[in-house]
Amino acid sequence: MFNNTDKRYNQFSAFLKNKFNAKVYKITLDAGFSCPNRDGTISTGGCIFCDGSGSFSQAHSNKLSVENQILTGIDTLSKRFKAEKFMAYFQAYTNTYKPVDELERIYQSALCHKDVVGISIGTRPDCVDDEKLKLIGNISKDYYTWIEYGLQTIHNKTLKKINRGEDFETFLRAYEKTKKEGINVCAHVILGLWETHDEMMATAQKLAELKVDGVKIHMLCALENTKLAKMYEAGEVDFMSEEEYIQTVCDFLEYLPKETTIHRLAGNGLKKELIAPRWIGKKLDCLNKIDKELLRRNSFQSAKFGL
Ligand code: SF4
Repeated sequence: MFNNTDKRYNQFSAFLKNKFNAKVYKITLDAGFSCPNRDGTISTGGCIFCDGSGSFSQAHSNKLSVENQILTGIDTLSKRFKAEKFMAYFQAYTNTYKPVDELERIYQSALCHKDVVGISIGTRPDCVDDEKLKLIGNISKDYYTWIEYGLQTIHNKTLKKINRGEDFETFLRAYEKTKKEGINVCAHVILGLWETHDEMMATAQKLAELKVDGVKIHMLCALENTKLAKMYEAGEVDFMSEEEYIQTVCDFLEYLPKETTIHRLAGNGLKKELIAPRWIGKKLDCLNKIDKELLRRNSFQSAKFGL
């Protein structure tokens, strides 16, 4: 139904394959950034689910230069998955949290190989400004360019609860400026933040109204050494069941326009630091169940777009 696959949603990997007529893989990078929500600039302790790795899930560390991470990534991904083209993905921490001249040097160093066709920069909406967006906008003239903003939810009361240190209005301002520079935007969303079903669907509807280019959906989970883990162990919070998550994800997808690419719907495999919920460790299982549920409903991404 999408990108000549049997997927009932616009899966980003299939979208990329069609766009570049090649297998395109992201190389995740840690360029040694920090985060203003962890270093005390905005608040203390960071987001309640942050385990101090800044959402970075790969084995290599910032001890390797960005160029070396790219070259190692190309070597590994082309051998393991026959990847042909690559996107440099600045994933760890807040990847615009440095002066603009340093950012330019860091981003350019990731574009060191002819097979790198794009760049994706994960950051917080409160960590971009006109100058930084102009720099990234210039890169977008030659490379397929994305900024991934950690939005999580449109509801400020929830953002406060998770100690995000910013509000939805900040996202909206960053979003508009980013689009003006011609940069693609992916919004990261977390489901299971103790919101009602209607509240979660309001986030989907708002993203649909904005016609955001991409969405990454995560299930809230508690990792070791996080505030959230302590809250869970103290019996203060609980998590969605897998069945609830699958239903909610399918409902969410139904509201998004068909053009919005879906960058992620499930976790990244079982981490040894995972405390709860344990089911998110089975990524493939979860994705298969989402496919099955959309099929059972005879539904698809955009089925409720505009409703
Ligand atoms: S913005 Fe990212 S790196 Fe910073 S505290 Fe939150 S999860 Fe951690």
